[in-house]
Amino acid sequence: MKLKVLGCYGTELLSCKMTGFLINDRVVLDAGTIEASLTMAEQINITSVLLSHTHLDHTKGVVFLADNVCNLIQRPVDIVGTNDLIRGIRDSLLNNVTWPDFTVIPTPESPTLRYREIPEDAVSDVDGLQVRPVRVNHPVPTMGFIIRDGRSALVYSGDTGPTEEIWKRVNDEPSVSAIMIEASFPNRLESLAHLSGHLTPRLLALELEKVRHTDAPVYVYHLKPRYLDELTAELRALNNPRIRFMEDGRAYEI
Ligand SMILES: [Zn+2]
Ligand SMILES: [Zn+2]
Repeated sequence: MKLKVLGCYGTELLSCKMTGFLINDRVVLDAGTIEASLTMAEQINITSVLLSHTHLDHTKGVVFLADNVCNLIQRPVDIVGTNDLIRGIRDSLLNNVTWPDFTVIPTPESPTLRYREIPEDAVSDVDGLQVRPVRVNHPVPTMGFIIRDGRSALVYSGDTGPTEEIWKRVNDEPSVSAIMIEASFPNRLESLAHLSGHLTPRLLALELEKVRHTDAPVYVYHLKPRYLDELTAELRALNNPRIRFMEDGRAYEI
């Protein structure tokens, strides 16, 4: 599985882009960043955008992708997510107030975007990827994902505080190629992490203890840029050789 980092941070700052990834050149996984990291040709190639939740640091790129590829694509780009996600995007983002409703533009018969609802905790095919959304612990309905492409299996935590269900599903998987897990706040802000449904390095280490696949590399993402130095030092201090840091713009073979 090819995974390109469009942005791997929990908000935006100079040289830190918001959370978004491109899988196998066609499927975007969370859309905090799309247009600012891809050429027009690469954007036209996108077939689906899979979203974990409605927060802007995971959805902002949808609106500018739509604007960029409108009238240039043969079939609509699917906005893929569970029921809560689709409703949230329809009501709060593509609502003709925040942004035009690109599910009827340029015409209702041949729109730029199309909603595709997938069931929670079941496997759906998304452009050649087998995707299982599993609910995690965040203030709005949020899914982590287990994603397979026939060769490898990627676990994506989504924005989450301490959680259980997704790790149970992961432990049922025969193999796991990589785990992407969030870490947003430094250890001293653990109460804020709990309040906002996020992890610190200490909490991340406790989550990893719930996973039986102890050989899979762990890619940490969603670091809040203002705490970058602190988070990096605390993650290094965990002394876990599986932990890797992601970089905006870099492509990984999972
Ligand atoms: Zn986020
Ligand atoms: Zn969030």
